[in-house]
Amino acid sequence: MTKKKVDLLITNASELITLQGWSQKPALAVQMRDLGIIRKGSIAIHNGKIVATGKASEIERTFSGKESIDATGEVVMPGFVDPHTHLVFAGFREDEFEMRIKGLSYMEILQRGGGILKSVQETRKASEEQLVENCKKTLDIMLEHGTTTVEAKSGYGLTLKDEMKCLRVIQRLNKEHPVTVVPTFLGAHAIPAEYERNADEYVKLIIDEMIPAVADQKLAEFCDVFCEKEVFNKDQTKQILLHGKTHGLKPKLHADEMTAFKGAELAAEVEAVSAEHLLFASIAGLKAMAKKHVNAVLLPAAAFSLMLSRYANARKMIEIGIAVALGTDFNPSCWVENQQTIIALACRQMKMTPAEAITAVTINAAHAIKRAHEIGSLEPGKKADVIILNIPNHKFLGYRFGTNLVNKVIKEGKLVVDRE
Ligand SMILES: [Zn+2]
Repeated sequence: MTKKKVDLLITNASELITLQGWSQKPALAVQMRDLGIIRKGSIAIHNGKIVATGKASEIERTFSGKESIDATGEVVMPGFVDPHTHLVFAGFREDEFEMRIKGLSYMEILQRGGGILKSVQETRKASEEQLVENCKKTLDIMLEHGTTTVEAKSGYGLTLKDEMKCLRVIQRLNKEHPVTVVPTFLGAHAIPAEYERNADEYVKLIIDEMIPAVADQKLAEFCDVFCEKEVFNKDQTKQILLHGKTHGLKPKLHADEMTAFKGAELAAEVEAVSAEHLLFASIAGLKAMAKKHVNAVLLPAAAFSLMLSRYANARKMIEIGIAVALGTDFNPSCWVENQQTIIALACRQMKMTPAEAITAVTINAAHAIKRAHEIGSLEPGKKADVIILNIPNHKFLGYRFGTNLVNKVIKEGKLVVDRE
């Protein structure tokens, strides 16, 4: 029998983590522990896509690779998907980190003109070119740590002109950087200083001008709102998200992060694609989310950065049957690019098992950004976004932390990171 020639074979992984079976619907409850592992597994890749996965002996009998990578003793799995980042901003907030150590809360820092508003000032001053350069550095680091797709929000512009600038940056990154970047419009990230006493007027600007412009230029797929006490209330959030929907922007929301604000209930009501954070979500709200298939995106690094003692109740969400995903929440107050760190935090602070956390940063994260049809698992026909980790089995993810366990990254069939 002549062998089929393919571009690339990755052979003999100690564990080939396929996560197959969850492309149509996310993995729920006990399904989150089923990683679809093939021991001594190989994968065939051609034209940037996955052709086949299976036992090394079978794959090597059927295919010959123009190139091949020996993954003996290593774990091979889908590239990480980061479903929640505030990628585009200028400047730093290291001083505020010290304020937090000394005991000031996030809201106190925001009220002193720090927090988001400081980043807004600096982002408004930055040129599109500068922002693209900043973001490329961040994406390089993310890619080196195994992230091959990232959702990116605007939200540090807060004027029509500056929000559009930030979204154009995301559009350019998609063309100029190997990482896939999925755009979200977050004009409702904070109430800008010039609308301090007139939040409704700012909401009107978002609805009347920003959303139509963003949709018209096809600069975002999702519309997100920071629904929180003293930021955007439930009524304003609902108005923005429903209006976004009429323009084809799918709803997401930052919900119940700092206070119990019935954000989870609202996420279910507007049939959001996802609700994020959820530290203070009510059980009724979570049940409503499960019923309406709203994905939960949990961001333990945000709680860690804010030095909170509370984390989202991931165990309850998994028990209720919510699709749980995990993201970095990369932003100037939570500066983390690495999804491996998030797995370590999720295991320790939210008692997720390594297998559950792996599902949450791959296929379930892909569902949270509506990309599960093309990424998040290793199955024929999907994009060949594959990472090779220097660990003997998946339980080392989360267990070992603080160093980069990723050896190689393959993005759409091309070797883009090789740390050996
Ligand atoms: Zn966020």
